[in-house]
Amino acid sequence: MARSPWDVIIVGQGIAGTTLAWHLREAGQQILLLDACEPVTSSKIAAGLITPITGQRLKLSWRYDEFLPVARKFYKNIEKLTGQKFFHDRIALRLLSSDEERQTWSERSRQPAFQAHILEPQPAPLLEADLCDTSDGGFAMNAAQLDVATYLEASRAVLAWESMRLDWQNDVTFSAQGLSVRGHQTRLLISCEGYAATLNPFFSWVPFNAAKGDILTVRFHKPVPPQCVHRGIWMAPTAEPSVFRIGSNYDWEKLDQVPSASARTQIEHRLKEFFAVPYTVLEHQAAVRPIIRESRPFMGLHPEQERLGFFNGLGSKGSLHAPWFANCFTDFLLHQTPLPEDLDIRKNF
Ligand SMILES: Cc1cc2nc3c(=O)[nH]c(=O)nc-3n(C[C@H](O)[C@H](O)[C@H](O)COP(=O)(O)OP(=O)(O)OC[C@H]3O[C@@H](n4cnc5c(N)ncnc54)[C@H](O)[C@@H]3O)c2cc1C
Repeated sequence: MARSPWDVIIVGQGIAGTTLAWHLREAGQQILLLDACEPVTSSKIAAGLITPITGQRLKLSWRYDEFLPVARKFYKNIEKLTGQKFFHDRIALRLLSSDEERQTWSERSRQPAFQAHILEPQPAPLLEADLCDTSDGGFAMNAAQLDVATYLEASRAVLAWESMRLDWQNDVTFSAQGLSVRGHQTRLLISCEGYAATLNPFFSWVPFNAAKGDILTVRFHKPVPPQCVHRGIWMAPTAEPSVFRIGSNYDWEKLDQVPSASARTQIEHRLKEFFAVPYTVLEHQAAVRPIIRESRPFMGLHPEQERLGFFNGLGSKGSLHAPWFANCFTDFLLHQTPLPEDLDIRKNF
């Protein structure tokens, strides 16, 4: 690849780096992505679920109605540019499992903000009885899913990138004109390294509250409709009928990528509580979600080195949040549009 001067070099080709690269490229910037090309990363194994009503307390996902249209428009546009399909509208079933959840849902389901996401009419039954026990109740909602691995791969075919693990101490040289990164000249260098940013000497002061998650890939032994199902854990369809991704747990202690036997037992136990179809486990993977604060993204420039940027904290909602926040950071970098205070690393840490 020609060592031409780049406007921006982005370190990390996960959801964060890839989405930021597309936004900066659309704004006319020359972008180079550097990625360590690890076989397992948070983005590569993510299920890509985008769900309006989530969690034990059945809450509306933060600013969902604002973020989803932006995400859909962005991914659909990249589908056109790459000729690949990776953004899917889905039906998500939420099964209820306690009196408390049923009580909460009976109150929430009367509110227009929740009703807007509910499928009308509701399927009856939610799932066939020979697949799943739905006798405790539940509801079907409109949701979406990003096939993250395909999005990353399709993007690599179009964006300029290089396989490299950047050593921030030894590979970066500052000069009056800009930066030199292993021979590449650039105006800006942006860390989109996920949890690995904790090892970056320029940004190690940003506090993470990261959580490891395990995920199983299973093949069910009879046909299962391509819907997402949530009941403490979730089942996410894949491109292959009857192959689903099942997850996940949150482990805040052991922040490595080693699949955990106890997490697998826990996920399988929860699956068997409601899903009756026998299956074979094809794969078990684990990665660390880059959570800084409540899956809310954080971004900004280094307080002393204005040529170094940071875009991270996508947490467990990277697929939904990345496009809106990449747009926000692009406006800041190119048009000096002030960052909202609650996103700016300089104002929060
Ligand atoms: C089990 C699991 C399930 C998930 N399910 C969902 C889901 O259903 N929906 C959803 O929205 N989100 C989900 N997530 C979370 C989502 O994956 C994250 O929000 C997202 O992956 C974060 O992306 P990122 O680009 O910030 O980080 P990463 O994916 O970690 O990407 C960072 C990249 O930078 C590279 N890198 C790091 N340091 C360097 C360096 N020095 N030099 C070069 N390259 C470097 C890494 O190799 C990697 O490719 C899930 C996560 C897990 C673990």
